Amino acid sequence: MADTAQVIDPDLLALLVCPVDHAELELQGSTLVCTKCGRVYPITDGIPNMVVDG
Ligand SMILES: [Zn+2]
Repeated sequence: MADTAQVIDPDLLALLVCPVDHAELELQGSTLVCTKCGRVYPITDGIPNMVVDG
């Protein structure tokens, strides 16, 4: 019934914060974007990749 594909479980998304500054993450397309530092975390098969480079 969903008009858009559910990229990530909303309950999971609510628990996630940026690992760098612990700011909220915003869902943009198939990625999560930190509302503070702007880092982008890809989501693969519903699992966000929270690895930080550098
Ligand atoms: Zn951040």
